[in-house]
Amino acid sequence: MTEQNFQLFNQELAKQSVTLVAVSKTKSAEEILKLYQWGQKDFGENYVQELLEKHDHLPADIRWHFIGHLQRNKVKYIAPFVSLIQSVDSEKLLREIDKEAKKNSRTIDVLLQVHIADEETKFGLDQNELIALMKNLNQYPNANVKGLMGMATNSEDEQKVAMEFSALHELFLNCKSISANTEVLSMGMSADYKIAIGNGSNMVRIGSLLFGARH
Ligand SMILES: *Cc1c(COP(=O)(O)O)cnc(C)c1O
Repeated sequence: MTEQNFQLFNQELAKQSVTLVAVSKTKSAEEILKLYQWGQKDFGENYVQELLEKHDHLPADIRWHFIGHLQRNKVKYIAPFVSLIQSVDSEKLLREIDKEAKKNSRTIDVLLQVHIADEETKFGLDQNELIALMKNLNQYPNANVKGLMGMATNSEDEQKVAMEFSALHELFLNCKSISANTEVLSMGMSADYKIAIGNGSNMVRIGSLLFGARH
């Protein structure tokens, strides 16, 4: 994407109060720096090791989002600096994040990942687990649950994708009535972000559209 197209894209999202997270997995420090110099500060990574290396080599004011499946034994490595862990898919993981956040004398912002796709491979809580967990949040004072994240089925069927996003938006509103802290609804990637925004998303995670296809 050219700088001009990036700025137009960003303005369009800002107008709709949607936060852009640039998904930089597999992309080099140079490619990330280019976007950083255009003003992008939120970057998303899927792998702990890759995130640690990039965090070491890139500007300190980048807000790093963790968006991949996170193993509990790796939370400690990212706990000192991570800005938002979007992929909390179990209470055990939330408990571990709370513990490591406390050790680092901070709170860590997180999103609960909800399983909305009909694909087995995508992680996430189901509806009942989500609501049960939402009612337990006061047990985890150092993990600040700010909202929900979900991925739709990878499908050409736009109506199906829209129904999944709309179901997640509904759950988001339910969670808001349990905890007023529920503010962020992270849904939408390169292929489906327009449908996601049309169904209530206020944070999109975009990789290939910004950086080009991954190899
Ligand atoms: C890779 C990834 C994205 C970005 O995907 P693109 O199709 O490249 O925009 C968004 N969210 C998650 C959780 C991802 O793993």
